[in-house]
Amino acid sequence: MSKSFFIDTTLCTACRGCQVACKQWHDLPAEQTVNRGGYQNPADLSFDTYKLVRMEEDFIDGRLRWLFFPDQCRHCLEPPCQDTAGEPTAIFTDAPTGAVIYTANTAGLNAAEIIESCPYNIPRQSSDGTLAKCDMCLDRVQNGLQPACVKVCPTGAMNFGDRDNILDLANKHLAIARKKYPKARLLDPADVRVIYLTGFDPDKYHKFAVAANGAFDMTRQMALKRMLRPFTGQVSRLG
Ligand code: SF4
Ligand code: SF4
Ligand code: SF4
Repeated sequence: MSKSFFIDTTLCTACRGCQVACKQWHDLPAEQTVNRGGYQNPADLSFDTYKLVRMEEDFIDGRLRWLFFPDQCRHCLEPPCQDTAGEPTAIFTDAPTGAVIYTANTAGLNAAEIIESCPYNIPRQSSDGTLAKCDMCLDRVQNGLQPACVKVCPTGAMNFGDRDNILDLANKHLAIARKKYPKARLLDPADVRVIYLTGFDPDKYHKFAVAANGAFDMTRQMALKRMLRPFTGQVSRLG
């Protein structure tokens, strides 16, 4: 059974435990940063920051609201980044879990195209040309542990498990959240393995919170073409 995350942003307190745990487990350095007048820190994801708690403030329905969004790779079911790379030694999906994994071989690829193809603006490039992002803590998961970010979350906002169980959990949380947040919704649950629940319009949290309309259509069309290629070849040879 493949794995999935469920992230209930209505339960997130922006403690940033997940962000720190991700750095700790992957031995990633801290970012040089500056005070930019807000609480989000650092400013963005980077080659050394796979998990970032985005923080927005907005007046909604006459009240000031905090909008917290612990951002990370969605481990798409049909990943546009993997499809664009077309190089299984560089970007591949781990079949048992569904984790989308980047290797050092990403250095030889067209990074700009791969970054552009991601509907959630996730991959980041280092000066040596390699690309990096969340790896689902595959080493932990393969050893029966929860991803580091899930393990430390103190509020129950972050959850991880078999995909069917996670989809059930997401729907249960959605039903509860709708009582308090009428606009609550799950973001792209059929397309991704990291399913967010937001209480307000997703674009208020982050420009790339939800995939643009049709973002996955090109990937599906290309996959279909690849599947049909042997048959179209036969037809043309017969013709
Ligand atoms: Fe690739 Fe972006 Fe999907 Fe992650 S979210 S698997 S980087 S396309
Ligand atoms: Fe970081 Fe692991 Fe969580 Fe991904 S799953 S954001 S790599 S801690
Ligand atoms: Fe939010 Fe949990 Fe991350 Fe804290 S650890 S910022 S509550 S998702």
